[in-house]
Amino acid sequence: MHRVLERQIRRTLGAFPSTDTPSEWLALLQAVSDTYAHADEDRKLLSRSLELSSKEFVEMNKQLHSENEIIEQKVRDRTEELRKLLDTQRQLSLELTKANAGLRELDERKSEFLSIAAHQLRTPLSGIKWALDMLIKDQVGPVSNEQKILLMKSYEGNERMIGLVNEMLHANQIDAGTFALQMVSTQVLDLIDNVLYEILPSASKRKITIRFDHRDNTLPPLIVDPEKMRAVFQNLLENAAKYSRPGGEISISLSREGGKVQFSVRDHGIGIPADEQARIFSRFFRARNARKMDPGGNGLGLYIVKNIIEMHGGNIWLESSENNGSTFYFTLGT
Ligand code: ADP
Repeated sequence: MHRVLERQIRRTLGAFPSTDTPSEWLALLQAVSDTYAHADEDRKLLSRSLELSSKEFVEMNKQLHSENEIIEQKVRDRTEELRKLLDTQRQLSLELTKANAGLRELDERKSEFLSIAAHQLRTPLSGIKWALDMLIKDQVGPVSNEQKILLMKSYEGNERMIGLVNEMLHANQIDAGTFALQMVSTQVLDLIDNVLYEILPSASKRKITIRFDHRDNTLPPLIVDPEKMRAVFQNLLENAAKYSRPGGEISISLSREGGKVQFSVRDHGIGIPADEQARIFSRFFRARNARKMDPGGNGLGLYIVKNIIEMHGGNIWLESSENNGSTFYFTLGT
């Protein structure tokens, strides 16, 4: 039996009738007739609403379709844009790789050139040094005082050239990773005294006094590269004197802090501008006030010093204030 009819019969009669009595059959038939009468109306209503819904559905479908088209177009456009971007990026990265390789090659050639030039310069400079020394010491005949002054100036200039050539060679070796240490047991205090002995005459000419404030005479020998450490003391002490004003004072300290040896050199000179302190250990860097005061520097010394200290497992740092002087510190393990 039709489900709707069965439901209607149950609703009308309260239960499904037994078909024993005519009156019940009558009621049953009545229910059947009512059901079909309503069913007809329902069907019409249903078909109208179905008709409307299907129109709406078609409309919605069309709308969906066109929106889908728009979205798909947007996706296609964006994909194309991304592809182009990716192509450009790929191209750029290729060019960058090429440029990098070119720069590396140039850098290698520059290092090679510097190394050859420095080595070629070293021999004649040593020859000139030897000849000037002989002349100054009257070993090839008497020299007048006037001539001696000129010879000594030439000697100093030659010494500066030798220093520059050596610094160029060292910086080059650091960059190439061939800067090696020869570690031996060394009395560091002797190295400092040696450097002081050398720089005292030029410092006293400018009335600069150098004081050894804290001097730990009980310091045991340290395992370091004496030649390289000597270059460190020489650079720091020469800088302190060079960037001091005439009549200035320099104080040195060598002490033990915990398990480490700490060296410091303080001057009251031109100092380093705060905004340039971070770059002070970079290759060829010179602060603007130093360039003004002494146009002859090369900005290689501190770069080499920092590398030497770090290769010894130490640390280097500074405190400075423009016009009020600088203190350079470094530590070494014992
Ligand atoms: P150079 O002295 O030949 O320029 P360095 O590498 O030794 O090269 O020093 C780098 C720079 O650090 C100097 O040009 C100067 O600006 C700064 N500097 C180093 N020591 C001092 C100092 N004691 N006082 C002031 N400035 C200093």
